[in-house]
Amino acid sequence: MRDHDRVVAVCERCDSVYAAKELMNGTIRPIGTAVCSCGSENFRPLR
Ligand SMILES: [Zn+2]
Repeated sequence: MRDHDRVVAVCERCDSVYAAKELMNGTIRPIGTAVCSCGSENFRPLR
């Protein structure tokens, strides 16, 4: 079973940058927190 990939995530609402992981379903999730400090759960990968 493959582990998730490390990515850099950018919040789609406030552009905060987080170290994150990409889950196998494609969800980007910041490491150590479920949501951004602005409350958004939507992130895009920075590649
Ligand atoms: Zn945010």
